[in-house]
Amino acid sequence: MNVLYINGPVQNGPFTVAERLGKAAGIRAAEALNTLLGVGPVPHLWNTVTLAGDLRHRDAPDRDTVGRQEREERAIAAKYAPGTPPAGGILTDTAPVVAALALEMTERLLREGALAVVPAAVHLCVSCGHMTGAVAHACRACGHQGSRPHTRRLLVWDRPAGTQVLARDDFHAHRARPPHQLLTIAQNVPEQLILSRTRDHGISLAPLGLDGLVLDPPAGVHIAVLAAAARSNAGQPVITVAENAAANIAAYGAPFRRHDQTRLRYALHGRIPYADTAALRRLCEVHRVSPELRELFLAWFLPLCSLHLRAGITAAQFPGLLKFWRRAHLARPDTPGSDVLAELRRCVAAGDMRWVMDVRTLARAIPDHAYGFTPEPEGAT
Ligand SMILES: [Zn+2]
Repeated sequence: MNVLYINGPVQNGPFTVAERLGKAAGIRAAEALNTLLGVGPVPHLWNTVTLAGDLRHRDAPDRDTVGRQEREERAIAAKYAPGTPPAGGILTDTAPVVAALALEMTERLLREGALAVVPAAVHLCVSCGHMTGAVAHACRACGHQGSRPHTRRLLVWDRPAGTQVLARDDFHAHRARPPHQLLTIAQNVPEQLILSRTRDHGISLAPLGLDGLVLDPPAGVHIAVLAAAARSNAGQPVITVAENAAANIAAYGAPFRRHDQTRLRYALHGRIPYADTAALRRLCEVHRVSPELRELFLAWFLPLCSLHLRAGITAAQFPGLLKFWRRAHLARPDTPGSDVLAELRRCVAAGDMRWVMDVRTLARAIPDHAYGFTPEPEGAT
């Protein structure tokens, strides 16, 4: 089936993974699933085209000596423990391979008439010139309240009336339980979506005659996943992404979910209450769960669990999940049966995650240690 799981690019904010374990959930889930499939490794994807990143760079005292690209790269490197880069490398949404694919896809979509470069009415901040979009609102770049109407040529997707931006089969899931809320959000986006933005950093659209504009970041996020899939010759990339993040990006990515024979789908995961893991630590002490087993629970089991429990995991579920986890760990066979592994592989390829709640199957899937993504040790600076 050529399925490959790839994380939804994580916004490269000023956090450490030790502080924000939830940010790594999509990366960890993708790695765990690819390992079970026997494919990969795939790169870890990071989203660097953000307004927050523009502002951090503008305000940085060393902005004259450190370039924006370098600042992003340094911030990403700092997320990993020294000397342990991910086995599949790192790919950002402005990497040359992503930019090249973005221009190729955009030019093709323009030729086919799916996208257009047309004069569009937008608002510009009167103070800094940031394009605030079709609707007037306070500037998100400088905070100024005032904006002025302006018409300029932009890359847009005018979708014909009745075109769905998101459908049931855009989700990689065994049971086609449509995420209603997400479908509703996607159906309520404007008929014209602007796919070019004012940013200091991004994939420049100057080759299309749009000087000073970059490709819309959510569109770029989808193309980064396609670029990672192409590198691994995977025809069915599946992007692991939180449901609320998918709601923000799916509509803008709609024109960019297919390329040649490749088709991108979403695997949604629910929230994991990592902020409440102090209680979990005490539970582990009471039940004599070793620190290694706790780490594996946090870094391997919970991310997989969150793909099954899409409504989100609650801290109240921790004691039950931990007991279940211990039971599965104790049931680990010395040599996994090949029939069970083959069945497990079929489930993972089909997006059927029910196996994480089956103690026998889970027992055969547990790795010796969490891999790939190593958070900084707690307390490190
Ligand atoms: Zn402004």
